[in-house]
Amino acid sequence: MTTRVQCPTCGMAVEWSSSSPYRPFCSERCKLIDLGAWASEKHAIPGNELEDDVFSEELSPRH
Ligand SMILES: [Zn+2]
Repeated sequence: MTTRVQCPTCGMAVEWSSSSPYRPFCSERCKLIDLGAWASEKHAIPGNELEDDVFSEELSPRH
């Protein structure tokens, strides 16, 4: 008998064994998606701080 869980991201059945290194996720992609969703929920930063940073670096060659 095989224990199966559902991938939290896409709902696919995942075998709970060493053949599923990303369990309970079906794949690394689903794992990253879930972690990313969690992170963006927890760190919902308003504004474009990061974007501004990137742009100022790109547009300021004489630093
Ligand atoms: Zn999945």
